[in-house]
This record gives sequence, C-alpha cells and structure tokens, in this order.
Amino acid sequence: MARTVAVLGGGISGLSACYHLARAARAPRVVLLERGGRVGGWIRSTRARDGAVFEHGPRGLRPAGPRGASALRLVSELGLDADVLAVPGDHTASRHRFLFVRGALHPLPASLGGLVRTVPPFSRPLLWSLLRDLVVPRGRGPDESVHAFASRRFSAELADVAIDSLCRGVFAGDCRALSLRSCFPALFEAEQRHRSVLLGMALGAGKGPALDSALIRRARAERWSQWSLRGGMETLPEALLDFMRSRDVELHCHAAPKRLQLTADQRWQIILEDGSIVADHVISAIPAGALADLLPDEAEPLAQALRGIQAVSVGVVNLQYDDATLPVTGFGHLVPSFENSSLLGIVYDSVAFPEQNGAKGNSIRLTVMLGGAWFTQSFGDPETVLPATLLHQAQEAVRTQLGVLTTPSHSIVMVHKACLPQYTLGHCQRIETITQYLQQEGLPLSLVGASYEGVSVIDCLYSAKMAVARLLGQAC
Ligand SMILES: Cc1cc2nc3c(=O)[nH]c(=O)nc-3n(C[C@H](O)[C@H](O)[C@H](O)COP(=O)(O)OP(=O)(O)OC[C@H]3O[C@@H](n4cnc5c(N)ncnc54)[C@H](O)[C@@H]3O)c2cc1C
Repeated sequence: MARTVAVLGGGISGLSACYHLARAARAPRVVLLERGGRVGGWIRSTRARDGAVFEHGPRGLRPAGPRGASALRLVSELGLDADVLAVPGDHTASRHRFLFVRGALHPLPASLGGLVRTVPPFSRPLLWSLLRDLVVPRGRGPDESVHAFASRRFSAELADVAIDSLCRGVFAGDCRALSLRSCFPALFEAEQRHRSVLLGMALGAGKGPALDSALIRRARAERWSQWSLRGGMETLPEALLDFMRSRDVELHCHAAPKRLQLTADQRWQIILEDGSIVADHVISAIPAGALADLLPDEAEPLAQALRGIQAVSVGVVNLQYDDATLPVTGFGHLVPSFENSSLLGIVYDSVAFPEQNGAKGNSIRLTVMLGGAWFTQSFGDPETVLPATLLHQAQEAVRTQLGVLTTPSHSIVMVHKACLPQYTLGHCQRIETITQYLQQEGLPLSLVGASYEGVSVIDCLYSAKMAVARLLGQAC
C-alpha cells in the first residue's frame, strides 16, 4: 500500500479523495496541496447577514442512481442529515421547468397530456418525436454530437430547442460540439443495448442503488429531484475539512506544485515554491490542463491528451429582489442558443430552497448564468470582463424575461474562469489514451475530478471514492 499519498487540488474531488484515504483501515499519510487559500473549489456559498444563502457554484445535487446514493451516504457519515434541504417529487421546483423561446416562457411538458398535445414552443406533439425513437435504427459510429443524436433519434426541433437548452444548463456547452457518449453515457448505452433510448431507459430503470441508509430511503420514498444543505453547498466541503483535520490529513493551502518528477524508485517528487514533497502516489484532482503543465517531459504523450480537455467560463450573477413576485414558479428557465447565446438561463433559487431566503421571507433569489461556450464571443476575455457588464445583462434578462422591474436589493457577480470542462467529440478516445498510458507506464498517478467522467458534484465525489478504492485495493 502507498505510504504517502499526495492529493493535488482541494475542490470537492480532492477532499473526497482525502476523506476516503483518511478513513481507510490502514490509512496512509495524506498530504493535500491546494493552490488557493480555501478548499471547496467551485463550491462556494455566501451567507448574508440576514441568513440568506447565495450559491456561486452548484446549488442542488441529484439523489438518483448509485452516485446519488453514495453522496447521500457521505452526508450521513458526516452527520449532516439534519441540514439536508430536500426538493420532493411533488414540489413545484421538481415539476416545473421552463424554456424562454421567441420572447416568452413556456413550461416543459410534465404529464402525458402535455406530450400528446401541441404545446408551444414546439410545432407538433412531442409524442411524435418520442415514438420515432422506437423505430429509428441503432447508430453505428463510435460517437456523435449530442445534437446529431437527438436530431437522428427524436427530431431536429427537439434538438434545437430542448436539447440545446439542456446542454447549456448542465455543461454551459454547445450540444453541437459535446459528445453524446461522454456527456450522456446512459443514453448512449441504452441505444447500443436496446436500439431504442426510451426502451433502454425503461428497462434499465429497475436497477436500484446497492447502497442503503435512512436518508437514501427517504429520498426514494419522497422522490427527491435534488437536495442542498441549509447553510449552502459549501457546508459539504467544510464538513469534509473538519473530518480531515480530525484524522491528521496535512493540508497545505497556497501550495501549487511547480513540477512533478519521477524518482528512480517510481515515486513522485513534487517540487513546490519553497521545497519538495516525496509521495508514493499522487491523486490529481486539479483540471486536466493544470496537471499537464506539471508533468515531466517524458510524460508528454499524457500531457498532450490532458490538454485536449478544455473548459469554458461562466458568469454567475446572484440577485435578490424584495417584495417581488415571479410570473411562474418552478426550478427555473433555460434559454436556447438561437434565442440569446450569451444568456444560459435563470435559476429560481428561492422557489427550490425558500429556507435559504433569510429574514426577508418574501424576497426572491435568482441566479443568472451567462456565457459558457459563448463567453468570449459575448463578453470578450473572462480575465478582463467588467462585472458591471454582466450585472447589467443579468438585470435586463430578469426584467424582460421575468417581468421583475424593480432594482435588486442585493447582487453578487462572479466570473468563473474555465470552470466547466467540455466533453467534446473524441473525449472518450482521450480518456482511453490517458488510461492506457497510465497502465503501460505504471505511473503511480490517479486522475479524479470534473475533467474526466462527469462534471456534477456526485460524479466528482464518486470518481474520487473509486480511485481510492482501486489504490487501497478495498471497498470504501
Ligand atoms: C457555476 C457552476 C454551477 C454548477 N452547478 C452544479 C450543480 O448545480 N450541481 C452539480 O452537481 N454540479 C454543478 N456544477 C459542477 C460542479 O460544481 C463541479 O464540476 C465540481 O465542483 C468540480 O469539482 P472538482 O473538485 O473536480 O474541481 P474544482 O472545483 O475545480 O477544484 C479543483 C481545485 O484544485 C485547485 N487547483 C487548481 N490548479 C491547481 C494546482 N496546479 N495545484 C494545486 N491546486 C490546484 C483549485 O484551486 C481548486 O480548489 C457547477 C459548476 C459551476 C462552475
């Protein structure tokens, strides 16, 4: 077993890796190296004095599937059950989502009735698109764009309007560039195994998660669509940090490695600004491109594959309005790229999590997401864009799309540079190249985090847990 494991990056993936290493039966020495002054990475919550919570990164995690269950189990292990804010299946934020198309908000169909009728913004019943999937032959290529897949199996209109918007909401990305196989592996596999996506999803849906706990059972019984934590999502990294401190994980902030060098006995010497650390194994939980810059020259083929995984920037604008009401209630709305490429969508935070409204119980909290794959063409360089530009665009969107005409009582603008990795066409080949290289060279290196196999928080938690299980040769 590795005696010293160095974890690079203190985002949720790195923290999850440290957690599982530190609680192993024969825990190695664990050293966490974080470039910044705090841990949590993109998970960041502002707690205002009046008790309101503003999320600048993720705001809701999915409970479904083995990864969702694993995240809920972690919450229980950390003693956070009482902090969970759940959005049950019958909640308006679970049932209602909207698209802003041709100047108006349209609810996405939430029942069979909505599928058999023609409901705007679609020009014919969505049922026709779904029935088409039952007869279209299986795709033959190794991969295709999400847009091409949706057009081929369902309809061009569904792809242009709904799938385009969905990819902007989840990946801040362009469905014409994103890989179906890497972004939606369950859909790819459903088609490959059962020819029809709908059939495949229906047959696969019976498989329940193997994990069990009171919280997991509650999430299933109440059909949660998502959950958060009372003090904001940042409560999760904070609790992981507390646990790590109790287990003597060595945390170094402001400690960005300058170079990784392999020693003659296949260990890593991690060169820092002010010294070096020798580790038997490195778990990299930093973006793929950042790792590429640290690798030794002899690992250039690996660095090249890592550099192929790029990320887009997002402007996140949190707004609070007092004594205002929304014209609709639900999770929020997305905007397809043909409508307004710079505006990805607006999340109605106060609808899903009214518990986080603070003292101003009747205020509304919204988050406007801007840019993504369209950031540079819309706003220029994310390094130099003026926060006032983003704030103006966000306020305008709230005014014209939601009819809220007052001035916000509170606003926070953040530009998250290169925050969401893009699994573009060829991503799975890049992952294959990387995996093969690590195996062939026998490098004592594990790669975890959003750059590789899932960008959601539950994917990141899971990838780190699995990497530690492989390293320690035991179930976590
Ligand atoms: C605006 C936004 C909204 C999102 N919404 C959701 C959501 O609602 N639900 C959901 O599930 N997911 C959501 N996500 C995705 C999810 O939050 C991220 O994919 C996830 O948090 C990434 O975690 P990570 O640990 O892999 O990477 P990061 O959070 O990027 O952490 C990497 C860490 O490594 C550090 N680092 C970087 N380079 C170095 C270096 N050279 N040396 C040392 N340290 C370094 C960084 O400072 C950082 O702390 C959202 C993301 C964003 C940006």
